[in-house]
Amino acid sequence: KLVRDIIKRPPIVAKQTISVSEASKVLIENNINHLPIVDENDCIMGIITSWDIAKAMAQSKSAISDIMTRYVVWASPDEPIEMVAKKMSANNISGLPIVDNNKKVLGVISAEDISKLIGHYM
Ligand code: SAM
Repeated sequence: KLVRDIIKRPPIVAKQTISVSEASKVLIENNINHLPIVDENDCIMGIITSWDIAKAMAQSKSAISDIMTRYVVWASPDEPIEMVAKKMSANNISGLPIVDNNKKVLGVISAEDISKLIGHYM
């Protein structure tokens, strides 16, 4: 199976101007843990997870740009799911934005999506 077979659309993303408090609401209301931060063209700039929100609380930071991870590990829609699992384990992360050739965010694939897929075939 390829990433494109299980990708969920539309992607839930946010701009860098979102506050930490708003970002935390987006995570909770959508029951997600990975929020790609995009520029005006919806291209990937960074990523925020609940771990980063906890970091913002611990360090009293209120700007997303101060807490987002800028070196984003991403996948393309044509990659096999196994490659995504390898990237997650190699980088100690549990989700990857899926981006097209222009780095536009198409969706997110999480470890939960992969475990559901494996569970479906067991
Ligand atoms: N293992 C846990 C997890 O998977 O969520 C937490 C540890 S992980 C090192 C937490 C950090 O990884 C956060 O600062 C988050 O921004 C970052 N992160 C999560 N997904 C990422 C991705 N696809 N690319 C780069 N960094 C990512």
